[in-house]
Amino acid sequence: MSMPKYAFFQGKIVPIEQAKVSVMNHALNYGTAAFGGMRAYWNDDEKQLFLFRPIDHFNRLRNSGKLLMIDLPWNSEQLRDILCDLLRTEDFHENVYIRPLIYKSMEGIGVKLHDVPGDFTMFAFPFGNYITADNTAVKVGFSSWTRINDNMIPARGKIAGAYVNSALIKTEAELNGFDEALVLNESGHVSEASSANFFIVRNGKAITPPLSADILEGITRTSVIALLREVMGVEVVEREIDRTEVYLAEEAFFCGTGVQVAAVTSVDHRPIGTGKMGPMVEKLREVFFKVVTGKIPEYRHWTHPVYVTEPVKA
Ligand code: PMP
Repeated sequence: MSMPKYAFFQGKIVPIEQAKVSVMNHALNYGTAAFGGMRAYWNDDEKQLFLFRPIDHFNRLRNSGKLLMIDLPWNSEQLRDILCDLLRTEDFHENVYIRPLIYKSMEGIGVKLHDVPGDFTMFAFPFGNYITADNTAVKVGFSSWTRINDNMIPARGKIAGAYVNSALIKTEAELNGFDEALVLNESGHVSEASSANFFIVRNGKAITPPLSADILEGITRTSVIALLREVMGVEVVEREIDRTEVYLAEEAFFCGTGVQVAAVTSVDHRPIGTGKMGPMVEKLREVFFKVVTGKIPEYRHWTHPVYVTEPVKA
């Protein structure tokens, strides 16, 4: 990972070395933070950096903050503008990953959410693929861990402490020789991966677990559902999926800001479909990468340019 040079911290952009919290910090001690993960894509033809759905990302982040009883003094548009300032200060001209974080900033002891002040910080760095293996052939195993449920720590928000669940899941998968894991929720149905949403293809339809299956309300998931329906004419169904149904899928894929769209080609050592990336996932990846770089006019509104374009002089 390349290190960021700056961070937005305590209300202003500072050199990254100055963005530090105390060992007494509430979020460090109790996991009482909520983070986001967002990307900006470099479009070399236009010499422009495009943020992907920043308002949706900041809306979800502020909602996660609400779950922790942290209200920020900025709305989502203001947070997007702060982010653009940060990216321009870094002067990035390549794909980057952005990590905004809402956290309980109090220094002191006391496990509770009320009457504990919060703050916001953000940094960004150049970033390629998240899954280290090839994103066209991800090998997956079902986890022995269970997905946290909404009445334990809500999976619909990106609550920092909840990511111990994700870390246990990811570590088990990698130590067992897989690239990634699928996790069952308490009711025994498929939820998602350690940090990505999941789809299967059966009889030509794309199927994904519903928001009530203890999944993160993924922004890539929403985007992919729209692209499958509107661009590719594929029927998308949100419903519960059983473990063995995954074994019988024609195709399967993960989606998320980190993985983008990644073909799952085996699960529990069983090939999915032909055992190679299928045509629907291949096409979806092609559409997705055009959309995020601002190359499909109908979806240009999902992107936001970081660098102000100079008006052409007459
Ligand atoms: N599920 C989990 C648990 C995640 O951490 C992520 C990554 N943010 C996702 C799904 C995908 O969400 P998004 O498309 O909004 O990045």
